[in-house]
Amino acid sequence: MTKKSIGYVKMLWTCPRCTTRNPGPQKFCNGCGGPQPADVAFEQAPEEKLLTDAAEIARAKAGPDQHCPYCSARNPGGVKFCGACGGDLAGAKARESGKVAGAFRAGPAAPIACPRCGTSNPGAALKCSSCGASLAPPAASAVPPAVPAKMRTPGRSPALIIGLILVALCGLGGLLLLLLGGRTSEAAAVVDSIEWERRIAIEALRPVEREDWYDQIPSEAQVGTCRQARRGTSQDPVANSVEVCGTPYTVDTGSGFGEVVQDCVYEVYDDLCSFTVSEWTVVDTAVARGASGVPAWPSVSLAADERQGEESETYRVVFITDSDRYTYAPATAAEFAAFTPGSRWLLTVSGFGSITELEPAP
Ligand SMILES: [Zn+2]
Ligand SMILES: [Zn+2]
Ligand SMILES: [Zn+2]
Repeated sequence: MTKKSIGYVKMLWTCPRCTTRNPGPQKFCNGCGGPQPADVAFEQAPEEKLLTDAAEIARAKAGPDQHCPYCSARNPGGVKFCGACGGDLAGAKARESGKVAGAFRAGPAAPIACPRCGTSNPGAALKCSSCGASLAPPAASAVPPAVPAKMRTPGRSPALIIGLILVALCGLGGLLLLLLGGRTSEAAAVVDSIEWERRIAIEALRPVEREDWYDQIPSEAQVGTCRQARRGTSQDPVANSVEVCGTPYTVDTGSGFGEVVQDCVYEVYDDLCSFTVSEWTVVDTAVARGASGVPAWPSVSLAADERQGEESETYRVVFITDSDRYTYAPATAAEFAAFTPGSRWLLTVSGFGSITELEPAP
């Protein structure tokens, strides 16, 4: 993210003694003449106009003002001696800076009615044109505190609450599974039947359509149609990129001026293309199965452009006890060989009816 400066604007401060609102760069109150205390922060003006005056811009860029450690007078940043008392400003405290005041108020502010005489004043006015009363800053509802999206702290969303409930339910379900699954019983059983199945995939080269960035497409592929798509972001301008900026916002510089900035990135575009390549694809499966005897692989006859693919095997043993039937799936042919029909076994069965352990009956 690149911070881009758009320019500088004047801020305000409100006198704590007489509530007069004063232009940010001004050190003394227009109403009572008192100095701006160090702890009275600058506020965003209701209507912000980018500065054009070179001297004002230079002051805004000079950094935060500083308060004299001897007489607490406000002095511009970079000045070595206090303008009021002549004291050394080496130990002066710089005003707070860097705080986001709010979204840049480029448009005209709504007119303000004077609280004392009711006269309607322009939104940017600091005091009533008719009676001179200090005009209160616009109510919070009139000007939304449009802080940039990324500055907002997320509240507890309904999705989060639903998520928490789901997690709790899953935990409960897991506990139930543990309790049920933990209950096992033993049973004497006889092998009732056995089954095996062995499969060999038959593959052939077939055209397959895929999509990828142009520079990622294999050289032998046939490129189809392309479209421009967002591939990523860059901090710097690069070829085929578009600058995308967020809402401009005003940052307090501590000098009575605010800097209007914008967070920007470059979205980089590239060709995303469909292409066709030949890939080994399963076109058929040879299967052999049986209900007795020794398992065998199916015989495979391959055409000229075909090859043998993955092999797989499944085995099944059905047991009967006095009251139930249980099926068991041996993992290998060697394990399967032990289950001759009619042989006797001792089964350990879980609460869900699946065999967890088995051994030949003595
Ligand atoms: Zn005042
Ligand atoms: Zn001083
Ligand atoms: Zn008035």
